[in-house]
This record gives sequence, structure tokens and C-alpha cells, in this order.
Amino acid sequence: MNSISHFLDGCIVPGRSSRTAPVYNPATGEQSAEVSLASADETREAVRIAHAAFTSWSKVTPLKRSRILFKFKGLVEEHADELARLISSEHGKVFSDAKGEVIRGLEVVEFACGIPHLQKGEHSMNVGTGVDSYSMMQPLGVCAGISPFNFPAMVPMWMFPISLACGNTFVMKPSEKDPSTPMRLAELLLEAGLPDGVFNVVNGDKESVDVLLTDERVQAVSFVGSTPVAEYIYATASAHGKRVQALGGAKNHMVIMPDADLDQAVGALMGAAFGSAGERCMAISVAVPVGEETAQRLREKLIGKLDELRVGPGLVEGPDNDMGPLVTREHLQKVRDYIQTGVDEGAELVVDGREVVIEGAKDGFFIGGTLFDHVKPGMRIHSEEIFGPVLAIARAASFDDAVKMINDHEFGNGTAIFTRDGDAARQYCEQIQVGMVGVNVPIPVPMAFHSFGGWKRSLFGPLHMHGPDGVRFNTRMKTITQRWPSGIREETNHFTMPTH
Ligand code: NAD
Repeated sequence: MNSISHFLDGCIVPGRSSRTAPVYNPATGEQSAEVSLASADETREAVRIAHAAFTSWSKVTPLKRSRILFKFKGLVEEHADELARLISSEHGKVFSDAKGEVIRGLEVVEFACGIPHLQKGEHSMNVGTGVDSYSMMQPLGVCAGISPFNFPAMVPMWMFPISLACGNTFVMKPSEKDPSTPMRLAELLLEAGLPDGVFNVVNGDKESVDVLLTDERVQAVSFVGSTPVAEYIYATASAHGKRVQALGGAKNHMVIMPDADLDQAVGALMGAAFGSAGERCMAISVAVPVGEETAQRLREKLIGKLDELRVGPGLVEGPDNDMGPLVTREHLQKVRDYIQTGVDEGAELVVDGREVVIEGAKDGFFIGGTLFDHVKPGMRIHSEEIFGPVLAIARAASFDDAVKMINDHEFGNGTAIFTRDGDAARQYCEQIQVGMVGVNVPIPVPMAFHSFGGWKRSLFGPLHMHGPDGVRFNTRMKTITQRWPSGIREETNHFTMPTH
């Protein structure tokens, strides 16, 4: 049995606690590894190492930090296939999708390589006569990242590249369900020339997370995961004086207007709903056709497409499947239970993915694409995040009804509108209470040089992930106002606020 431990001070270090968790290959249902769950003491040791490394790392020039990240970028590209296979073997997603996640993570590394420019701060001459003002964007110290299972490469790479580039040191606590990829990334960082102790991985669960939220040496916490945990992370770490960005769950709606190109919308919807078996925080899980005729046409086309959906292992010879298995047996059961809940709540189950059988992989955590129609606000399958390949059609009578349905929802991560009408699209962008909006784009994930974040209960904290917000989050601004008198020539006793 492969055993996965921690990466501390530049080395793989065996776990000392007696607690472990199983890691599965979701395509076969077999346990592939056992991951150590760090004790509070082991996590404090990781923080101590990162804290000790901060003094020298924060003094390395931005250009040198950037060069290490350039080297890392090259190594990740070189090892992209290996990383994608690793992701697929523990998460289950298909190889091409896993590789896509590596590339999207890499784009944040590319952004972080520009740190000498990004961390320049601002400068004003003559804010007063003979007085100049400038700001420094200084690193914070030890930063912590806590990531979910669904993007074991991309989400850690949303967090650590910018943090390290800004001169911070880092303790990463990956999901215990698929911990191998962040461990491999730690090795590649070391190979790229990152000094020992600057980036550490501690595997674990709530016990180690709680240390990261409360240890006074940790300055900032980046979290991505489910909403109840995000809320807990935000409340606890904030109460301990840390800055926090905690991204939570989602229920993303796609509005299909009567004038939309329906074939294009359906094609986009299939990938957005069923790609990665729906285990994406930006997956579309609710289709909102406007008008009965649009709903009827959409439903017919979706049924046809679902019939063609190829479900199977993530790693195969030849062309990839469309979607792989779910991450664990427990998660599979949860998704199956949601489907039953939808039936009990009175939604119409149009396509039932529970019946799917994968030849040669009977024990894998597979479920087929599922479609509900006549889903209504108030039903649990509308209000709660299922995080599986279950698409709901929630019919809206008008554009205003569609907007209201989405604005009334607890979550506000992503959304999309499909239309040919610029006015409808413009109104939608203005009125919708959601952080990331797509116009004829089903999954509007901002690129690395923009920032990623939802609204409402999809994000706790003021700053979004990566992009310009990522630089702000990972630095502390200091503003210097300076004056260099040419000699002690003037009276400097000012008792009132200086004004112009
Ligand atoms: P999760 O909340 O169960 O776990 C996330 C992390 O928190 C893991 O590292 C886990 O070990 C830790 N954790 C779990 N329970 C904890 C507790 N009680 N106390 C402290 N730490 C705890 O999430 P998950 O199932 O791994 O990931 C799926 C969720 O992540 C979905 O809700 C999805 O929408 C969300 N997600 C959101 C985004 C986003 O950008 N908003 C992106 C990806 C995933």
C-alpha cells in the first residue's frame, strides 16, 4: 500500500500520528494509498519551519523569486501528463480534463512570474510641497492554504504561486481524498530552486486545519471548499487576527433566452453540467429556459445528448470518456440520495443516471448523467449543492422571473446567459447577484490575471482569489510619506492638520 505523508523543510517526512485516511482509485473502487493525518503538533512543526524560512525568503529579490517560478513553470509543463495521470487516479476525472486543470493552474504561475512588476506599489511626487509619498507591498509571513478534492492541482496553484512570489512562506493542507498531486508539486518547486522550508505540505483533516486557523505565526488563510466549512474557516481565522479568503459552494444557473442558438447552448450546457462528473464549483447545475417553448425544445435536445454521454474510467487507451466516476463511495451515495430526494419532492426525473453500469469497472464510483425537469425553488435539489452529474431544468416564465430565481438563491458563484440580444445580456450582467457571469460562455472562470470569486454564501472575505486581488491578499501595504529638508531651515511644529 502506497503511503503518503508530509513535505516539510524540503523533504518527505513520515507521519508521526497514528491517524490515517484511505485514498481510493475511484475508477476501480480500490484503495490505492493511505495518507497520514497530521497531529496538531506536526502541523505546528510545519508552521515553525515556514516561519523560520520567512526571514531569508522575504529578502530574496522579486526578480530571483520570479526566476524560480519560471523554472517551476517549465517543470510543470514537462510533467503535465504525469500530473494529470496522478489527478485522474485519485480524483477520477478524465485525463484531458485533468490536464486542463494543470494548465489553468499553470496560468497563475505565469501571472506570478510577473511579480517584479506586480509588487511595485505606487509613488506620488509632491503630495505636499517637497513631500513625496510611496507605498510598499510587503509580504505577510506564513500563509496557509486549505484546498478541496475537486481540483488537487489547480486550486493549490490558485494560492501558493502568488503568495510565494510576494515573499511569503507557505503551509499547504490539501484534501485528504487526493493528496498526491500537491506533494508532487512540492517536489517540483524544490527542483526549481525554491529554498527548503519555503513551501510545506501537511496532510490532515480538521485537527491540522484548526492549528492553521489559530496559530499566531500564520498571517493569512486561503480556503476553498464547501460553504459550512468556509464559514467556519472565515469566522475562526478572522477571530484570530488573520486575513482570510474562504471560497464556498455553489449552485450555478444558466439562463437560456428564447432567441438563443439552442444547439450551441445545449452543447455548452452538456460540458458545463456533466464535465468532471459535475464536481466543479463552476458547474452549471440548473438550466433556466425562459418560456415554455424554449423549455420544451431544450428538454428534447438534452435527452438526445444525454443518450450519447460516454461515462467510464478517466484513464483509458484511445479517446477520453466524457466523464469519469465520482471521488468516493460516500459521495456517490450522497448524489444517489439527492436523486431520490428530487423524485420524492415531485420533480420529474427525465433521465436517471443511477442505472449506469460500466463494463469492466463495476466497483468504480460511477453514476450516469441525470436530468430533472420541473424543478422549483424550495426543492432541496434546487437549493442545495449536489456536486454530481445532475442537471435540473427550472422553467421561468420571463427574464425577470429567471433573474429573481437566481438572485433569491443562497449561492452566487457563477452563472451564464445564452442569448443573441445584447440588451438582455447587458441587463443580466447588471442585475444578477453573482460574482462571475458568462454571456454565451457557460463556465465563466476568470483567467489568472483577473480574480476569481463568488458572491453571497459562495465567498467569505473581501478579496477574490488570484489576479490583482491575489497580490493584494498576499501583501500588506505600507505607505511612506517623506520629506527631505535641505537643512534645518524651517519651523516644523505644526499643531493643525496640514492642508493645501
Ligand atoms: P470540504 O469543505 O469538505 O473540504 C475542503 C477542505 O477543508 C479539505 O482540505 C478538508 O480536509 C477540510 N475540512 C473538511 N471539513 C473540515 C472541518 N470540519 N474543519 C476544518 N477543515 C475541514 O470540500 P470538498 O468536498 O473537498 O470540496 C467540494 C466543495 O468545494 C464543494 O462545495 C465545491 O463547491 C467547493 N469548491 C468551491 C470552489 C470555489 O471556487 N468557490 C472551488 C472548488 C470547490
